Amino acid sequence: MILKDRPEPLELRLLKLLDARTVLEEKEKKSLHNKAKGYEGEKVFDLLTEKLAPPSYLLHDLLLESNNSQFQMDSLMIRQGPIYLFEVKNFEGDFYYENGRFYSLTSNKEIKNPLLQLERCESLLRQLLQSLGYRMAIEAYVIFINPKFHLYQSPMNQPIVYPNQLPDFMSKLNRKSSTLNGHHKSLAEQLVSMHQTESPYEKYSKYSIDRLKKGVICGGCHSFGVSINDRYLQCRVCGHREGIDAAVVRAVEEIRLLYPHERITTNLVFEWCESIDSKKTIRRVLKQNLVCNGKTKGLFYE
Ligand SMILES: [Zn+2]
Repeated sequence: MILKDRPEPLELRLLKLLDARTVLEEKEKKSLHNKAKGYEGEKVFDLLTEKLAPPSYLLHDLLLESNNSQFQMDSLMIRQGPIYLFEVKNFEGDFYYENGRFYSLTSNKEIKNPLLQLERCESLLRQLLQSLGYRMAIEAYVIFINPKFHLYQSPMNQPIVYPNQLPDFMSKLNRKSSTLNGHHKSLAEQLVSMHQTESPYEKYSKYSIDRLKKGVICGGCHSFGVSINDRYLQCRVCGHREGIDAAVVRAVEEIRLLYPHERITTNLVFEWCESIDSKKTIRRVLKQNLVCNGKTKGLFYE
């Protein structure tokens, strides 16, 4: 039972849209790449946990606070017996382990130690459970999900599941029986209710609306390679085809996501969609799909 799903993270959505319309800084590009990759890996792992037969409560991507420290958990599985905490890593390529540290083999650079991350999470989760009055054992694992991941000199006796061990690991989980009771349910619900959201807007506030390239981007590949006639858009890059109404609605969603405080007016959307040269079309689509507010002068849509 999925009690908390895993929507595409807001920051990832923001970065994707900004990337289409401006030149991101190097570190932001890296962040976009890492977030997209991480999200992809987590979704792959979700498919595995969601397939397990014994009943459990699955909580994906929880951000909680314990003892004034925030901690994020990729995946939490509440069931009879221990609670399972999973830190999912979608690392690809060759890495090595030395003196308690992880390094990328190609760059020789040290990377964030996922075991330390896991340990911190587990400890904060345990404290949180205690403070809520629950006494349950926790089993925590780092899951390396990418089949192209390899760790040289891998440490023994560490809570790590490598890609080639994953099938066995999952079938073991599948064999353990589990019966859920009210206790499990109330814990799961409490944790979901404590989930925090972080606003990424501050971080990207320098990308004001006038700094972004205007025009309609493709709904499939986010490129500007679309040909537009009065009925539909056709992408020259990926072949994606979309009706003009859907494209305008999507443009509005884009503005709302990037600039949640901006008022949606015909003029704003018209400027945003630069390549659609009929203001009448924009006005019609807004009227048909959104709620119109205000007087003739200063109309805006919600
Ligand atoms: Zn496209």
